[in-house]
Amino acid sequence: MTRSYDTIVIGGGLLGCATAWMIARDGGQVLLVERDQINQHASGSNAGSLHFQLEYRMIERGIEAARTAAEAMPLHLDAARLWSDLPGLCGQEIEVKQTGGLMIAEDAHQVELLEKKTEIERSWGLDNQMIDRAEIDRLAPYLSDRVAAAAYCPTEGKADARTAGPALARAALQAGAEIETRTEVTGLSRQAGRWHVAVTSAAGATTVSAESVVIAAGVWTTRIGQMMGAHLPTIPLALMMTVTQRVPKLIPHLVQHAGGRLSLKQALDGNILIGGGWPARLIRNQDGEPNFEAKPELLARSLSGNAEMAIRVLPDLAAIPAIRSWVGTTTVTPDQLPLVGPVPGQPGAFVATGGSAFTLGPSFAQVLAALISGQQPDTDLKAFDPARYGRK
Ligand SMILES: Cc1cc2nc3c(=O)[nH]c(=O)nc-3n(C[C@H](O)[C@H](O)[C@H](O)COP(=O)(O)OP(=O)(O)OC[C@H]3O[C@@H](n4cnc5c(N)ncnc54)[C@H](O)[C@@H]3O)c2cc1C
Repeated sequence: MTRSYDTIVIGGGLLGCATAWMIARDGGQVLLVERDQINQHASGSNAGSLHFQLEYRMIERGIEAARTAAEAMPLHLDAARLWSDLPGLCGQEIEVKQTGGLMIAEDAHQVELLEKKTEIERSWGLDNQMIDRAEIDRLAPYLSDRVAAAAYCPTEGKADARTAGPALARAALQAGAEIETRTEVTGLSRQAGRWHVAVTSAAGATTVSAESVVIAAGVWTTRIGQMMGAHLPTIPLALMMTVTQRVPKLIPHLVQHAGGRLSLKQALDGNILIGGGWPARLIRNQDGEPNFEAKPELLARSLSGNAEMAIRVLPDLAAIPAIRSWVGTTTVTPDQLPLVGPVPGQPGAFVATGGSAFTLGPSFAQVLAALISGQQPDTDLKAFDPARYGRK
């Protein structure tokens, strides 16, 4: 007999786990299906930055592009609140520290960009303000003298990417969700008002059914969309990260740069994480299609470029050995705004992905859980509607 649920969540990254937890907490019968292990992909390999300011990739093409990217600010504001409440709400230990974030500028052009960007963010309600060098000396004396000014956002910070997803999976289980790992969704069809989801595991192939399905599949989103005949465009990116040896407390903030790819933060155990979006090489198959099952290749020029930039703004780093670099894949959308909402033409199917989906994971999960239960989410989702891309 086909097992049936209210909702089937496809993907066990941070987003899928958070969504399954929220649905189960609200009384829904939910099955989460993950082809590998929980948190094995982007959610477990990212930098863990909780950035609510617009990132470098959103301002590098100028202030008009930044204005468009700022349309996602309501989700950022929700995320800032949700992350701080998350450990208490889900009853799990999640290492979340919101001790403030600095986006730094080294020259007059970057200062001007930061000022304009900060104005846009403040108009959406983000608590963010410009600080001058004197204030930097007081707040962040660890930064190089080259840093001329910064935008300071008190709610920014970090969460531990290795443990947040699994903690939410535990919360989901405790709330009554079922989770099947090493189980791949291989087909989706809709019959008589229900979704029939073909899954394959070591135990064999079977079909489970549900009223609704949630696509929380990261870089596999487009592929899952194709299974149901939907166009869900995503652009895959392969990125790298580096971590140093443990050192005594040095940086209490999340540090990002207005003029290049850089993020810096110190984990609770003392390791400094260096990232910010430097590329790794995505592996492609013979037809040029990305192969997400293969690990991207680390690029030497990214390794050195990221390290050079990090040392330039945090000179103490020059004496701290790096112990590991790694790669991961993630998605952005063609217009840089998230893809969140009902899948066009597919009743009962919902999707979320795109951009800083670690930071925004709890916000995405909250709106997905509302949509599934037939409620209107508090956040206006018009700008993120997957239907904006139409069909191919
Ligand atoms: C190096 C790096 C650094 C980053 N830094 C940050 C950061 O600091 N802050 C931030 O906000 N974001 C950051 N990101 C982006 C962030 O990691 C991702 O946006 C986020 O983790 C996506 O979460 P997810 O749950 O949607 O996807 P994922 O974590 O990728 O999970 C999707 C899951 O779906 C499963 N799946 C796919 N297809 C199927 C199928 N057919 N059947 C069953 N399961 C399936 C996959 O196995 C996978 O586990 C970074 C990304 C990288 C790679």
